[in-house]
Amino acid sequence: MEEDTRQEPDSEVYKTLLESTRAIPWKIDWRTMRFAYIGPQIEGLLGWTPQSWQTVQDWADRMHPEDRQRVVDFCVAQSKAGVDHEADYRALTKDGSYVWLRDVVHVVRDEAGEVEALIGFMFDISERKRTEEKLLALQRELEDLSFKDGLTGVGNRRRFDTVLETEWEAARRDQRPLSLVLIDIDHFKDFNDRYGHVRGDECLQRVATTLRAGATRPRDFLARFGGEEFVLVLPDTDAAGAERVATRCREALAEEAIAHERSSAGPFVTVSMGVGSTIPRPGDDAVTFLEVVDRRLYQAKQRGRDVVVTGE
Ligand code: GH3
Ligand code: MG
Ligand code: MG
Repeated sequence: MEEDTRQEPDSEVYKTLLESTRAIPWKIDWRTMRFAYIGPQIEGLLGWTPQSWQTVQDWADRMHPEDRQRVVDFCVAQSKAGVDHEADYRALTKDGSYVWLRDVVHVVRDEAGEVEALIGFMFDISERKRTEEKLLALQRELEDLSFKDGLTGVGNRRRFDTVLETEWEAARRDQRPLSLVLIDIDHFKDFNDRYGHVRGDECLQRVATTLRAGATRPRDFLARFGGEEFVLVLPDTDAAGAERVATRCREALAEEAIAHERSSAGPFVTVSMGVGSTIPRPGDDAVTFLEVVDRRLYQAKQRGRDVVVTGE
């Protein structure tokens, strides 16, 4: 049999290996809470010399204030319990910025089973965190987009369905009034025929912006209901309040004075509106309410357009 002539690696080999990896090794003496060792790579990463890491307090002090409490409490509790653990946090650099680190900690016990030391590695995970944050931002943007109408930026039909359901439920529970305003641009087909679809799209955007400005409470919600139709959901708003909002929107649009030569309702773009308000009772449903408001919109058209029809 061939004899194994290799020798056990001596401590120099270990040291060289430890100090040439990108992970930064360290050791803390549990009794004194002082660093027994920290790899010299720490200076390259954070700017603080190895000698400046004296106590556990130095470690805690060089942590982002938002992370400190959570991480220190967690690491102390795990260490006391003798459990290996890891924690992510932002470490302060000497020039005042922060680097995301992952500390992976092994708890060393003596023969009696008492915690003797903590030995760990710090990993620079800033690149991974940046990627994670980018992905999160992208995800939020996608969620946002999936709720928005692409042309006007107001809520889309899907969002409207959700908002109506939520607000209907809240109004029923709290017995508070909920109002809807259905809005339809008058003779919009003729507008497109006269000015073209590009100007038609611009018109839709201007109408959306005007309507959005007309409903001012934080929970007021505007969606594009369909082609040239919009809907306002007005929580906690009674019939008189909803009529005021509708009238304000109508007047604001008149001020925009978007030319519409082919409208029977006047020289500018106008809208017809149906307004409804209700305090939902058990057994009532939102779709029936929406149908009532839609019939009022239809009446507004029949009455010559540029009209607001309420339940009165
Ligand atoms: P009314 O006064 O009765 O509401 O007449 P109207 O012409 O507005 O109604 P109609 O339902 O006959 O036509 C709606 C038109 O809206 C059809 C289409 O040309 C236009 N439209 C719908 N969606 C869009 C869009 O995204 N962009 C543009 N430019 N036009 C649209
Ligand atoms: Mg229509
Ligand atoms: Mg129309």
